[in-house]
Amino acid sequence: MPAFDLFQLLASLSPEQRVVGELNTEMLNDQIDGSLLDDKPMYEGKNPFLQKEPWCANCHSRPDAGLLLCSHCSTAWYCNKTCQKIHFRAHHKSICKDISKHQHSVKQEAQRLRKTPFGTDRARQNVFETQAGYFSQGEQTDHYMSARESLTQSYFDAALDVHIQSVWEKALFEALATFRLDVAADAEEIWFIIPYILLYLDRDDDVLAFIRHLTQVDAEQNMEELVRRHIESHEGEWIFPSEKDCRFLDIFEQRSNANDYSLPIHILVPLLLIKLRLVATYDSIKKAIEVVFETTGGQRIQVVRDRVTDMLMERSLQNLNIDAQREQIDHLMEVIDMVNPAVLPTMVDPDPLMDRFESQREMPAHLLEALENIPRCNPCFNRIPGARRVLARHLDRKK
Ligand SMILES: [Zn+2]
Ligand SMILES: [Zn+2]
Repeated sequence: MPAFDLFQLLASLSPEQRVVGELNTEMLNDQIDGSLLDDKPMYEGKNPFLQKEPWCANCHSRPDAGLLLCSHCSTAWYCNKTCQKIHFRAHHKSICKDISKHQHSVKQEAQRLRKTPFGTDRARQNVFETQAGYFSQGEQTDHYMSARESLTQSYFDAALDVHIQSVWEKALFEALATFRLDVAADAEEIWFIIPYILLYLDRDDDVLAFIRHLTQVDAEQNMEELVRRHIESHEGEWIFPSEKDCRFLDIFEQRSNANDYSLPIHILVPLLLIKLRLVATYDSIKKAIEVVFETTGGQRIQVVRDRVTDMLMERSLQNLNIDAQREQIDHLMEVIDMVNPAVLPTMVDPDPLMDRFESQREMPAHLLEALENIPRCNPCFNRIPGARRVLARHLDRKK
């Protein structure tokens, strides 16, 4: 049996090639006849939930005549008026209204801000250039920042509904533009939404780079340097260096264990998703190769080998230890349980908490946090093969 270096193979997967739905071991077992290899290249790494090109939000087709774009929000495309009507009633109505409304208030608040002196400085100035990084220090910016926050959230909702890359990128642009204005943590909601947007864009290296940045901000002595970076950046731009293959890193390595529990849930959960996705991809590839050998006596491996070689040419990553990645998952689950024991059970099964929320409006903060995590987290979590099993096993062991 020709030896395949699985470590190298995994390392060679770029975020775009990362497989979420297609390299699913259950699916592979169902299609052992080999037709899978002809129809869907296993290592192409298509994420069926991220559409590079727009499609009809209702019927998911791409007609030759082209698509109509919703003129109010520019986040939904349709093949015809009928599809638009159906989708508008079922999903789009509130998202569309929210986007138009928040876009309007962002514009309005920006105009107002341009006419208002900032902080103690009586002079009028272009605050978006001169005060970048300092926005949390001026009360005048509160309305503007919350309008931007709401707009980002609406784009997030729209993107989850249509799965189109450019809509996710709009959400990211809005979030980063807000992030740029505020170095201190006043716009926390935005800070915590960025890792999720990046996750849905399959930019796991950037998720980790961003989280590394966030978790170091507290300890960052050189605030001046940080503010300088924000001021010198431009709207919607990535502010700190993104690092290739950063997703393999252990975020806790630089921190003492005592500090792990001070990380917020909105950072810990995206970290867990990255690691689950990485291990799931590894397991799927391993399984896929086993299936190929078992069912075809290794003949079909040639078909796969060409594609694998193509990817290996791109780059290789040494020293990836898959067991260490699994240990990171275990540690993350432990830390999440310590920070908020309701989060993981709610991810596995949101229903009991949803029912409780409907029956009694008042809820302790930790349960609310677990519930708020679901709409952002679960669409991604549910797409990772085997992830539910890993969490369920962990929760069983704790019982
Ligand atoms: Zn349609
Ligand atoms: Zn619309």
